[in-house]
Amino acid sequence: MNSKFSRRQILAQGALASLFSMTHPVLAATSASTPWRNWSGGLACNPAGRFSPSTEADLSEFLSSSQGLIRPVGSGHSFTPLVPTDGHLVVLDQLTGMLAHDTDKLQATFAAGTRLGDMGAPLEAVGQSMLNLPDIDRQTLAGATATATHGTGIGFTCLSGFVTDMRLVTPAGDVLDISESENGELFNAARVSLGALGIVTRMTMQNRAPYRLKAKNWVQPIEEVLEGFDESAASHRHFEMFPLTHSKYALTLAIDETDEPINNPPPSPEEAAAFAQAMAHWATLPPRERMPLVDGLAEQIQPTEVVDTSYKILSNVRNGRFNEMEYSVPKEAGAECLREILQTIIDKEIDVVFPLEYRYVRRDDTWLSMSSGDEDHAAISIHRTAAEDYRPYFDLIEPIFWKYGGRPHWGKIHSLGAAELSELYPRFKDFQMVRNELDPQGRLLNEHLRKLFIS
Ligand SMILES: Cc1cc2nc3c(=O)[nH]c(=O)nc-3n(C[C@H](O)[C@H](O)[C@H](O)COP(=O)(O)OP(=O)(O)OC[C@H]3O[C@@H](n4cnc5c(N)ncnc54)[C@H](O)[C@@H]3O)c2cc1C
Repeated sequence: MNSKFSRRQILAQGALASLFSMTHPVLAATSASTPWRNWSGGLACNPAGRFSPSTEADLSEFLSSSQGLIRPVGSGHSFTPLVPTDGHLVVLDQLTGMLAHDTDKLQATFAAGTRLGDMGAPLEAVGQSMLNLPDIDRQTLAGATATATHGTGIGFTCLSGFVTDMRLVTPAGDVLDISESENGELFNAARVSLGALGIVTRMTMQNRAPYRLKAKNWVQPIEEVLEGFDESAASHRHFEMFPLTHSKYALTLAIDETDEPINNPPPSPEEAAAFAQAMAHWATLPPRERMPLVDGLAEQIQPTEVVDTSYKILSNVRNGRFNEMEYSVPKEAGAECLREILQTIIDKEIDVVFPLEYRYVRRDDTWLSMSSGDEDHAAISIHRTAAEDYRPYFDLIEPIFWKYGGRPHWGKIHSLGAAELSELYPRFKDFQMVRNELDPQGRLLNEHLRKLFIS
């Protein structure tokens, strides 16, 4: 054990913060004048222009009176090239905020360009709160639902499962209100659309009364967590783990409702810095020599507890830029798939210190959510800092996901195209038909969407 860290009381919350704050020199710019770049910096494009409508009518007029290529963009947090285009980007940064709410149904309608992190406070003011949130809340509502963005918890579908009504402006400029009862044949396609059917301008979400959550972090051997995962997932509102690489330990997180008073101090910068320093030290050693150090440090991490309003607990700030691959495998296959990935990292001596993430997501009835269908899913993520080349690591691990029937997260790195995807989604061909009907000219296609939906 490294004595430098043996005296430190490293807090689990600080450890988690620093795991996602690993910084590296900024990637070299591909062009000094590049006007659009995604969050991780790995994707860029030079669009012909940007259209930022101030009303739905403006958007409809723009679409009906123009003909070129378009791509809707949210906050650019996808790692896959869903957005890059030579045509026009459609940006909904003027269509934001709460538009209406229903106190009896606990539902609220937001303009689709609203960021998730800007929904919590106005919802609370009208006696509502989101059912669940992803790991961060910087995504727009339309962008998050377009890729079936999800949080953690076997009791919760992805965010698209909370949508009750939505409005879509087609590439021809037609305005469609879509719900189970209106244009119902489109409802399960449009809630996870990858921006391939039109521009979503508003969404109504099913919420609940405001609530407070307590988050507990601790370190536990990966095997122990896996053996009790189903039980833990059933007994906590949210349960997940971040397995450390070249280690037998995982950072483990359980979140439950509470009436306890708010107690949510920011993670100690000193402790987070100590953990980041430790990780930097691991990275200087050959992977096969790391385990004693990593385990030694993990054993010193102290459990933490924080209590706050739900939306302040469910999402985090992730400052360190990274790229990510995530596949969802049927829940029953999750543990074996994770074990094989972790063992491969050890056997192949993969030089990675970034932890994995392992969580359950409830099944839903959309056509293209990674958890759609009859089974709940385990979502497994691997990461690389933005300055590193993710390809050798991700290329090695991706076939393991395939072996367990994995479906790639639409917003996270993967290499699949239409042929493979049509095998993974029973309604894939139906989606292709709907896409073709709503966008016969292919105005919304870019190279990546062609690969996903055409060939
Ligand atoms: C740090 C980080 C943490 C993350 N954590 C999670 C997580 O916990 N869980 C998870 O599931 N994912 C997670 N993601 C992935 C992220 O949630 C998705 O990639 C999401 O789609 C990004 O939303 P965005 O607003 O940035 O949209 P963008 O990335 O800009 O666009 C995503 C898609 O939405 C479409 N789109 C955007 N606006 C519209 C519109 N108005 N109408 C129609 N289509 C539209 C785009 O065309 C594109 O296809 C994370 C990503 C990052 C960078």
